[in-house]
Amino acid sequence: MRKNSDRLEEYVEKVLKGEVKLHELDLVLGNSNLAALVRRLFLEKKFGVSLSAIASTIIDFEEAVGRNIENPIGAIQVPLGIIGPLLVKGDYAKGEYYVPLATTEGALVASVNRGAYAVTLSGGARVKVLFNGMTRAPLFKVESIDEAVRLVEWVKEHFMELKRVAESTTRYGRLVDVEPYILGNNVWLRLVFTTGDAMGMNMVTIASTKICEYIEKEYPGKTVCVAVSGNMCVDKKPSLINALRGRGKTVVAEAVIPEEIALKVLKTSVEDIHEVNLRKNWLGSSRAGSISYNAHYANIVAAIFLATGQDIAQVVESSIGYTWTEVRSKNNSRSLYITVTMPSLEVGTVGGGTRLPTQREALSILGIAGGGEKPGINALKLAEIIAATVLAGELSLLAALASNDLAKAHIRLGRKGEVKE
Ligand code: NAP
Repeated sequence: MRKNSDRLEEYVEKVLKGEVKLHELDLVLGNSNLAALVRRLFLEKKFGVSLSAIASTIIDFEEAVGRNIENPIGAIQVPLGIIGPLLVKGDYAKGEYYVPLATTEGALVASVNRGAYAVTLSGGARVKVLFNGMTRAPLFKVESIDEAVRLVEWVKEHFMELKRVAESTTRYGRLVDVEPYILGNNVWLRLVFTTGDAMGMNMVTIASTKICEYIEKEYPGKTVCVAVSGNMCVDKKPSLINALRGRGKTVVAEAVIPEEIALKVLKTSVEDIHEVNLRKNWLGSSRAGSISYNAHYANIVAAIFLATGQDIAQVVESSIGYTWTEVRSKNNSRSLYITVTMPSLEVGTVGGGTRLPTQREALSILGIAGGGEKPGINALKLAEIIAATVLAGELSLLAALASNDLAKAHIRLGRKGEVKE
């Protein structure tokens, strides 16, 4: 019998000669882990490199192919840190949390951890979810503007039928609203769904496709669905519509930081933090024409998304947001009132990358791996925990800027052995 290694070598040669394509290996070898190995050997031979670090992974590609990846060759590892305890007073997430952050930016975890300490010492972060709905906006073309208005009216009258059609495709997705938008003879139907504990993008795309088929068949006039995603959803692009109407979860968090805690933990006064927020986050962002008025929501959102298996490209809209501060005085003592508002935070605890073993373990640290006791609860908890962590991150960075410590911290924690402080 031929040795297995000879067989694999034979396929490496076939790939090198172009007789077998990279994506055909899973099928011809009958095993996705072997296919990953052959792809790696091919690359090592072709480019004269070693991929032993990329090879070192616990991911079972027999599980991941068909769900999370095509043409796998291994995995990229990103360091995982932890911050906490962070006291979260949400409507769903209640208590002290240790939050996993995956990042390569030295100083980020330390900074968020400092913010979490200040927030927890000050009594915690109150958090609320104001809106819950994942969107897809199919685009229809019609003959005229009269027809466009007729289509929108027909859709409103037939909402219950559209809901039935959409919900026949999922146990958890629920169509809750249709927002119509007209531009000339183009009509977008921004379909809004609740999606249980899933972020929901596959779920609502499947349901929206069924709605498009139903409209094309049943609408008495003539219309064609040009695309199930008409870019008014809006997925993975910066947009004002998400900032205004919300997408995923709209979350707000607030905390009140007494002056003595600011001075002791954050090494600066509440007045100085407030001034940096107004002049940097509001004036600076406004002058730059930004749609976000914050210091670094993307840092925290990306690190938690990576750690917990969220769709990392959705950091684009999930990190839109506004940091608002006020200095409050009571009985001769001052405090900083700080809030973060995140209109389009897109998260889930089932489906997508949350199934992968390391990401699932990271969710288990938060006690929210998989579906909630009541569908949707775990995803709502995750949204609240992220907003509270973003608040801690904003507070700490604004304070570091106010006390002029930002560069020093990055030299100390991001350039070990390279540059003197
Ligand atoms: P998914 O893994 O495609 O679907 C979630 C699955 O979990 C569904 O089968 C759902 O059941 C099931 N489920 C079990 N328990 C649940 C619970 N408690 N709550 C909700 N669902 C539960 O995940 P998804 O969130 O819909 O989509 C996320 C994926 O879409 C990510 O991989 C992301 O990268 C990708 N994505 C897709 C598009 C696109 O256009 N398709 C765009 C952006 C991102 P049912 O089958 O009964 O609903």
